[in-house]
Amino acid sequence: MVISFSAQSLAFGAETDQNQEYQKLMSLYKKTETVTNIPWYVLASIDQYERNVRHSRNDIPKAEGLIEIYFKPEVWSGPLNPNKEDQNPITIGLFEGIGEDGNGDKRADPKNDEDILYSFAHFLQSYGTDIENLKIGLWDYYQRDKAVGLILGHMKLYKKYGRLDLDKHAFPVPLNHNYSYNNTWGDARGWGGRRIHEGTDIFANYGVPVRATCFGVIEMKGWNRYGGWRVGIRDIDNTYHYFAHLNGFADGLQTGQIVEPGQLIGSVGSSGYGPPGTAGKFPPHLHYGLYKDNGRTEWSFDPYPHLKAWERAERNKR
Ligand SMILES: [Zn+2]
Repeated sequence: MVISFSAQSLAFGAETDQNQEYQKLMSLYKKTETVTNIPWYVLASIDQYERNVRHSRNDIPKAEGLIEIYFKPEVWSGPLNPNKEDQNPITIGLFEGIGEDGNGDKRADPKNDEDILYSFAHFLQSYGTDIENLKIGLWDYYQRDKAVGLILGHMKLYKKYGRLDLDKHAFPVPLNHNYSYNNTWGDARGWGGRRIHEGTDIFANYGVPVRATCFGVIEMKGWNRYGGWRVGIRDIDNTYHYFAHLNGFADGLQTGQIVEPGQLIGSVGSSGYGPPGTAGKFPPHLHYGLYKDNGRTEWSFDPYPHLKAWERAERNKR
């Protein structure tokens, strides 16, 4: 009993820390919105995109503050600035660096949260504050469609919910149905050439509901030769949740739509391994995969430990 009590208070402590961090971040975004007219959810989305990129790479230094937007020294100080560590907003401006003073201390400090946010917002401001112009600004900055797409997805979510706390997850099938799964991520698969199994198979009967595992945006829906009828959801952590071999989709489900953890998206089936409509070539199951974008590419990681954790969390709630 003692052990479970302290585990509970530890979990509660972590939650409180996280809430405090969200509050601090929100006030930083809103303060910058007040002075630049760039909406808070635009700033939050850029910061969140970069936070996830940073956490999945080891060639970008760790952030020192709460804001995790990273500027290379030459971008901050200006490409031709001989002083890469320059913090003088005037000389940075002369060398066309992005760095600005956001907190009024007359220094443009690339490690200061307010300076970082203000600098990015100021850069975007030169394009305009409406969404179409912001998109152009983001494209000019990142030069990568995927980055712009992920940031726009985050914006949709933050704007709709009006909060940063969108980390809740759900197990993909309701716990009161019969299902089973093992850890088979990385196993060799023969069909379609040499490839590895990029997911966890959850075996269940035809028609068992399949639910969204996260807050996210439907990024893809349709037929794929391997996956059959499948859906992909992009969450706030740049993670892509992939559901394959479905029997069908939830009514009205469409790409671009926002979903919530536990929301019905389809049902278990055995579609795939042939032209559209092919089914029954293997026992019905949900293939569930997770992929992460790191700012350059996307790779598969093992969903099994996450499934276990989400399942446990739901079971404990009952
Ligand atoms: Zn599978």
